[in-house]
Amino acid sequence: MKPYWIKTHQIIKKLFSNFVWDIPNNENKVYLTFDDGPTPEITEWVLAELEKHNAKATFFCIGKNIVAHPEIFTKIIEKGHSIGNHTHNHLNGWINKTDDYIKNFQLCENIISTHKSKINPEASGLKPKIFRPPYGKIKPAQSKKLRQLGYKIIMWDVLSADFDQNISKEECLNNTVNHIQSGSIVVFHDSVKAFKNLEYVLPRVLKHLTQNNFKLEAIRF
Ligand SMILES: [Zn+2]
Repeated sequence: MKPYWIKTHQIIKKLFSNFVWDIPNNENKVYLTFDDGPTPEITEWVLAELEKHNAKATFFCIGKNIVAHPEIFTKIIEKGHSIGNHTHNHLNGWINKTDDYIKNFQLCENIISTHKSKINPEASGLKPKIFRPPYGKIKPAQSKKLRQLGYKIIMWDVLSADFDQNISKEECLNNTVNHIQSGSIVVFHDSVKAFKNLEYVLPRVLKHLTQNNFKLEAIRF
């Protein structure tokens, strides 16, 4: 059995109702998200694919990757996508103390807010107060602290599992197109590890969704 589920069960959503699992709406809106970037070439390829379909998405960036590739981070902002915090060093909340976890979150937040770009992500609304815990692993005390700071913890409705080296690209595609519905938050990764699957899946998912009249939007609260 795989150590993850593709479609988040209603019971999980109810049990962990402090997290955002989907964004229900009557307009066929779907929210694609990309974790772990910015990554040279891969993030830029994702941006180009999104642009072909006039799609907006949300990028949960790692602080240290923004420091390493500020020019790619600028491109994400200039294309009008949303930015979310994914910690500075991709910390696993379950094995880190709450103080350390929040400091690492803050480090990423500072990198984003001091980033030099023509467009200020915070002032332009491209940086809503959203956070995705790496691995989806976060302790209640950590989640509580972030929510007290005004952040929404964004989980997902559909996991593409693009990171899984043991699934075929066709299986990865099915993971997404078979489970996406209006309001779904969908997880992909603009990372080297996931690219083998993502390169095949993303163009097909975008085509499938636009042909079926879904609107691809960035998460904004
Ligand atoms: Zn991640």
